[in-house]
Amino acid sequence: MKRFCIMIALLILSLCSCTSEPLTSLESGIISNIPLEIRAEDINAKAALLTNTWSGPLGIYRVQNNLIYFYDYSSDTVIPLCNKPNCKHEGDDCNAYVPGSHWITGDSKFLYLYSADGKTAPKIIQTNHDGTNRNDKAIISGNYSLLDGFKLDGLFCFCAQYAVEGKDSVEPITKMALLAVDTNTNTIKEIYSEEVDTSYSYKFLGVSTGNAIFQKMSETKPLTSYSQAALDAEMNGHDCKIYSVELQSGIISELINDKSYNIDPVIMDADKLYYHSRKDSQIKSYDLKTKKVNIITENLSGYIVFLDTPYVDGKLLFQKDNATTDAYAKPLKENETFYVNTNNGEIKKVAFMIDQGEGHKCPFLGFVGITPDRFIVETEQSVDWSKVITESGIQMFPKDSIGKSVFGIIRKDDFWQETYNFIAVEWFVSKDTGKEEGGISYVTN
Ligand SMILES: [Zn+2]
Repeated sequence: MKRFCIMIALLILSLCSCTSEPLTSLESGIISNIPLEIRAEDINAKAALLTNTWSGPLGIYRVQNNLIYFYDYSSDTVIPLCNKPNCKHEGDDCNAYVPGSHWITGDSKFLYLYSADGKTAPKIIQTNHDGTNRNDKAIISGNYSLLDGFKLDGLFCFCAQYAVEGKDSVEPITKMALLAVDTNTNTIKEIYSEEVDTSYSYKFLGVSTGNAIFQKMSETKPLTSYSQAALDAEMNGHDCKIYSVELQSGIISELINDKSYNIDPVIMDADKLYYHSRKDSQIKSYDLKTKKVNIITENLSGYIVFLDTPYVDGKLLFQKDNATTDAYAKPLKENETFYVNTNNGEIKKVAFMIDQGEGHKCPFLGFVGITPDRFIVETEQSVDWSKVITESGIQMFPKDSIGKSVFGIIRKDDFWQETYNFIAVEWFVSKDTGKEEGGISYVTN
């Protein structure tokens, strides 16, 4: 169940993860050595993670199946972002069509999208809010596969990978790089790169005050035995290192070097890292400006995971990962969603559950969209259940697809006060299999 819910959360929220363009050659990934000006606007801006959804002043934009969809706040309707009459929204002449788009973001004037159609070099394009007046702002030439990215004021920062020829010319070496794309000057610069250490996983946490922040965590090893003690030893023994890379100079510094027992998981919002210490049963914050650690809440033991939209309205959303804390419980334990008020440390359970039919419910997974005063939330999942006989009796497990999802919009105050008055939103219908995302009217084949 936990994996199923997390899988759906990932699919629904669909954070901008790895793109799939293959590395085409073994040449250096370096594309530009033009000096990059980091402007005060970029240093002071709050970095926004690039995802497939952007909440603008008039509505929410979302890229899916190569199309931009627009959810209009004023009418509560969803349409492709194209005003051409009789358009089938399928080809290059459609304003909403963006092949190979993985993320969308914007500012008060423009929308920005990534486009990688597999035929030409990937690029960042800019359009007006209504999808018209399309301009290429930056061609990502060279050899890069873009991973996660963040937008500042006029600056994009990407974690990218590329391959170079190995010293012994046998196996190529993978390098991890930090790229900056300045949409004011249309320049791209590789700020920093290092050879990927395959015994670590890398995560780009965010950008704060002119520094990109990365996490390196040592990879999981096989358990020594099937017991909670062995699982805890493995889960608590990872190296967890946090680095900052100065955008202007490319200089890297280590901020934190600890074990996962004391720092896991970690997320970043504005100028703060938030993390859980299982050792101290506390959620703490780390101020990236002052390097001071502050205790947010205490007496929180066991494993937790942060939601994909973790920090909203001064509340940090997380799940108690009961299925890991008590991994050998029979029957398997369900996770539960909570939030902690970062001002007073008060923890509250989120009473809202996603209805999965046949009496099944799944804990709340995070917000699909956030407007100035409302949230868009997945409210129902249509799931095909199958009966499985396990050691602890007959249990129901979901089959590998969901037929449809139902989304609702709710006032923020109502959500926090547990008055779950949702207005149903007809969201985006998948043209392909419908497995990943659905809409109210969608019926699976
Ligand atoms: Zn169209």
